[in-house]
Amino acid sequence: MRAAVAAQQPPAVVRVLVTGYFSRYARCSCGWAGRGRLLRSLSVLDALTHAARQGCRPGVPLIDVDIGVGERP
Ligand SMILES: [Zn+2]
Repeated sequence: MRAAVAAQQPPAVVRVLVTGYFSRYARCSCGWAGRGRLLRSLSVLDALTHAARQGCRPGVPLIDVDIGVGERP
């Protein structure tokens, strides 16, 4: 019964957040956060490596660029 309840929960989603010039990092809804990277490609590699190891899903789109809008629809 417990396994059936756990199977119904949606998997965690990992995304790459770009919030500044030197602030590119991967963050997952399971609570994991990668280290800040200078190159966006390294944070994408962090996100995909985390998804492959932990079974989380990569977000679509994977890269979320902060354009200064506080609320998103
Ligand atoms: Zn995760």
